[in-house]
Amino acid sequence: MNTIEKFDSSVMHTYGRFGVVFDKGEKRTATDENGKEYIDFGSGIGVNCLGFCDNDWADAVCTQVRTIQHTSNYYYTKVQADFAEKLCKTTGYSKIFFGNSGAESNECAIKLARKYSFDKYGKGRHNIITLVNSFHGRTLCTLSATGQDSFHNYFFPFAEGFINAKANDIDDLKSKLNGTICAVMLEFVQGEGGVIALDKDYVKQVAEICRENDILLIADEVQTGVGRTGKFLASEHFGVKPNVTTLAKGLAGGVPIGACLADEKCDDVLSKGTHGSTFGGNPIACAGGNVVIDKVNSDGFLEEVTAKGKYIRDNLETIDEVAGTSGLGMMIGISLKTKKASDVAAAALENGLMLLTAKEKVRLLPPLNITYDEIDKGLEILKNVLNSK
Ligand code: PLP
Repeated sequence: MNTIEKFDSSVMHTYGRFGVVFDKGEKRTATDENGKEYIDFGSGIGVNCLGFCDNDWADAVCTQVRTIQHTSNYYYTKVQADFAEKLCKTTGYSKIFFGNSGAESNECAIKLARKYSFDKYGKGRHNIITLVNSFHGRTLCTLSATGQDSFHNYFFPFAEGFINAKANDIDDLKSKLNGTICAVMLEFVQGEGGVIALDKDYVKQVAEICRENDILLIADEVQTGVGRTGKFLASEHFGVKPNVTTLAKGLAGGVPIGACLADEKCDDVLSKGTHGSTFGGNPIACAGGNVVIDKVNSDGFLEEVTAKGKYIRDNLETIDEVAGTSGLGMMIGISLKTKKASDVAAAALENGLMLLTAKEKVRLLPPLNITYDEIDKGLEILKNVLNSK
């Protein structure tokens, strides 16, 4: 049996996989088992923010593997403390809970919001407003939070306590405020939903309504966070400071981690015994995360993300087949005039370029440290695919 046959005979078929077996990666290029190279415009869905096997990142992770790979969360490790302090300093949040994924970070935020309200107001104020077309994860509770009906199938009964409001419609949100709401949860740029940024005015009004009504504002920055939009947190573009922000994906550069960050208002809500995770904040992940934060915080790094994002968009908009681009920084959606995004992604892969899709758009989440040379190579392939008959 070849690799694909072996895999498919042993693993559940939950993904529509491309027929490529990757063998190794270096910088922003992966190589398959036949030696064919692929430029990466997807970062493994926003994870490999420093590209493949960045030297400093690999050194830190490998050193940690040989030093201490795991302890239970009943003990302390220095690497975890260093990472937590760095993340708090960078983001301005006062406390963190570490998990292993985006969905887990959001589960933590949901539990935190409900307990915040329960501690202060008692039972009944447990509902969370999430936005139509949002995506918050694949666990049962985060699927329930996700504002897309297509995800609300098969797995009944879904978790109670989520009310959807239309994005960018403040009156719709106001009409849902009925005294039972403990939090509003949103993505500043809906990623899976089609790379759609919220309006700044809308976000500011939501933040103000939350503040006035002691409703927690939760930002799901699992996809937008850690420099992806040209700021460490996308909230910085919108001039708001949510009470809770969740991170994952790029946070440790390719090893699993998730983080739920809380501000002073709610940072002591999750008290001893109310939440936990065996692997959360694993030392290997924290070692990778320390390198990611140092690099993303280094002089000029985020300005480069913004500049490269603009460069990619400007180039894309010269292509006939491109109807327009969306998103922020290096989180880019491409609307097409005639072609299907999934066909474009398949053809690009065939020609040595890894792309993503989101709804009907092609989606780009290139490694944050991609070079102009690599961008040009990738764009050339994409142009040829889009211009082909
Ligand atoms: N939230 C957002 C905004 C996401 O984009 C994703 C994943 O795409 C998730 C949550 C879920 O993250 P994970 O797959 O790490 O559980």
